[in-house]
Amino acid sequence: MLDKEKVGREVFLIREESGIPLIGCIAFGLIDRGTNTIQVRPTSICPLNCIFCSTDAGPKSRMRQVEYIVELEYLVNEFRRLVKYKGEYGIEAHIDTVGDPLTYPQIVDLVQELRSTKGVEVISMQTHGYLLNEHLIEELEAAGLDRINLSIDALDPELAKFLSGTPSYNVERVKAMAEYIAKNTKIDLLIAPVWVPTINDTEIPKIIEFALSIGAGKRWPALGIQKYIPHRKGRKPKNVKPMTWKEFYQKLAEWEDVYRTTLILSLERDFGLHRRKMLPIKFKKDEKVELEVVGPGWLKGELLARGRNRSVTIVGIPKSLPYGTRVLARIIGNKHNIYIARLSP
Ligand code: SF4
Repeated sequence: MLDKEKVGREVFLIREESGIPLIGCIAFGLIDRGTNTIQVRPTSICPLNCIFCSTDAGPKSRMRQVEYIVELEYLVNEFRRLVKYKGEYGIEAHIDTVGDPLTYPQIVDLVQELRSTKGVEVISMQTHGYLLNEHLIEELEAAGLDRINLSIDALDPELAKFLSGTPSYNVERVKAMAEYIAKNTKIDLLIAPVWVPTINDTEIPKIIEFALSIGAGKRWPALGIQKYIPHRKGRKPKNVKPMTWKEFYQKLAEWEDVYRTTLILSLERDFGLHRRKMLPIKFKKDEKVELEVVGPGWLKGELLARGRNRSVTIVGIPKSLPYGTRVLARIIGNKHNIYIARLSP
């Protein structure tokens, strides 16, 4: 999967020696949103090109200029430091990424290391399942993975292919893997289709029936239907008008009655999410700061920089600058310690 041809672009490896902080960039590392869930992002790579992808992932991406991979030891060490800071109890390590976590070459080792971290109660992973096979599922189970949030967006093979933007995507194979997980392992399965109005409306009830028929959702809900939301830098299927939240929840409530299963999820009730101490925010919005350029930016026209032990994405760059260059920039985004800046004139 690290073959440049397959990935679509260069892969930038983030090692401890690089001194690139793992907090601060949305595309790799760790995200702490002030709850007991820590998002773990070891890779940004994806093998698919879903037509609705909010992060414009995959080989056919138009916005990305580089993919990131984080060295296992560095990621685990920083994760453990973060767990210690937040409190070593009831932590959920959620491996989600802006691509697909299964592209991480050491995904099994990562799960194992997270499992052996004091305070980690749940390890979950978000995937479209394209790279799953029985052996890998068994390895993930043995390593201690608790839940897979598996996105299946259509059961109709041609429509599923179309939605994935990938001619080799085979939904029958992904369904077989879903069934294998639900029936043969201790890993719980949550099926998480993205509902793209007018494109897969009639598929959603079929996906609900499929999830229930294979025994998904033993400890957590069987389904997590996701509303399609167009993102400025994501891919948008033509002629699709997003639903309102009201329309979305009304339909879910109707299906809840029909299928007698939970579809309107509460992160607190269904996943045990609760507030927890958050890492300190190191840069204020509008603050003018000095940063050091340390790598290529994730998307075109961006640079990766660091300062105050945080990574910062500098946007609106006309041309790349050598690594090590010190620049003045103004912080334009700092939510949840994810930093965006613009060069200061
Ligand atoms: S939606 Fe997920 S699987 Fe599909 S292209 Fe985007 S990141 Fe990859």
